[in-house]
Amino acid sequence: MIDTHCHLDLLSEEVRREDLRDPSLEYLITVGYDRKTIQNALKIVSEHEHVLCAIGFHPHEADRVSDEDIEWLREAVKKNPKVRAIGETGLDFYRNYSDRKNQEEVFRKQIALAKELGLPLVIHMRDAEEETLRILREEGAYEVGGVMHCFSGSYETMKKAVDLGFYISYSGVITYRNAGNLRDVVRRTPTTRILLETDAPFLTPQPVRGKQNRPSYIWHTAKVLTELLPNTSLEDVDRMTSENAKLVFNIGNNGRRETVTYVINNRLYINLTNKCNLHCSFCQRERERNFMVKGYWVWISRDPSVEEVIREIGDPSRYEEIVFCGYGEPTLRFSALKKIAAWVKSRGGRVRVDTNGLLFTFLPREKLRELRGLVDVWSVSLNAPDAETYRRVCRPTQPDAFEKVIAFIREALREGFEVVVSAVDCPGVDMEKTRKLAEEMGAKWKHRPYEVVG
Ligand code: SF4
Repeated sequence: MIDTHCHLDLLSEEVRREDLRDPSLEYLITVGYDRKTIQNALKIVSEHEHVLCAIGFHPHEADRVSDEDIEWLREAVKKNPKVRAIGETGLDFYRNYSDRKNQEEVFRKQIALAKELGLPLVIHMRDAEEETLRILREEGAYEVGGVMHCFSGSYETMKKAVDLGFYISYSGVITYRNAGNLRDVVRRTPTTRILLETDAPFLTPQPVRGKQNRPSYIWHTAKVLTELLPNTSLEDVDRMTSENAKLVFNIGNNGRRETVTYVINNRLYINLTNKCNLHCSFCQRERERNFMVKGYWVWISRDPSVEEVIREIGDPSRYEEIVFCGYGEPTLRFSALKKIAAWVKSRGGRVRVDTNGLLFTFLPREKLRELRGLVDVWSVSLNAPDAETYRRVCRPTQPDAFEKVIAFIREALREGFEVVVSAVDCPGVDMEKTRKLAEEMGAKWKHRPYEVVG
């Protein structure tokens, strides 16, 4: 686990010593927010390999920050490769410890510094959501992006920050009883943008509230995150938030390798191909190749061979399911899918195929029958209740694509497969109508939130 925001110098000597030795904490980002704490942070990072830092001037300090201080900050950053971000900087119109105009000015100067030095920003934003986002936009902060530290804002603000290229860092606040609204925002945050932090020694999470906060308490917050995200284990939260943190703070090489198979919550996913015969408006694959699913890089530069996939699966009976997916459409590799599925079934595994249901647009209907006994479940993305919506949302090249998907679902049910029909909750899609259509055909129904890969 990576604690992306803590103040190690503010912890008691004993707590700091213990948590610096905690093997469950892979990296710690300690934060300096004025001249004194910046010097403390630089000292700590020089003594501990796995500690990195963010340094900058807090909005509370703005009245006292001169151009000379900004110059001093620039030099400190240039001399220390362990400085991985500028901040925390931003606006605090709740406490107003500094004049608002000064806060804005110091904030703008630090955004410019981050852009000059090519470092991300760590943003403190309190009672100033609109103003903070406006300044980030005006100053072109999307060039460097960064972290909305200890985020507790609205869904709209989260979305705007994500669109500006920022990550959303959640603290122990999400564990508090009265934080229901914030937990709703967490549920709707793209998992590729979620970070965790303690902000220790502040904001101690439940159930240890009352004690001084410390980095090792991050696991309490992580546990609540598993409860908020569907189908997500503690291991998944650890991996995905750590990989996100490595990306934003440029830590290591992220262990990037071509992901042929990957495990999430005891299901093994097979990344069979990146090719697809649709262009769904919500598909990340359509927009970026550099994309992760719960901490796994899913873009592959070449399709894996059958042998390669089988070798990676190992013993299929160890997993709840073997899922053919891909950052693309797995049925496009029909023969490979058939061979691998046959091998999995012969070794006691259960097979699911996630598909767009367009098989009948490029293969004759009889082909489906060849997969009887090899595929247990078809999970079909329908995404629309009618052809017109389908054309708008999924952007098929064939004019009769929607009818072909419906035919596929009906045929699969007739052949005795289990079929789960899903739709992504996109603007303009009548989910209720889509659910009814699925159930009338005899399929099961799955509602998918508007955050989807492919
Ligand atoms: S969402 Fe799936 S079906 Fe749609 S374009 Fe992406 S990979 Fe293809």
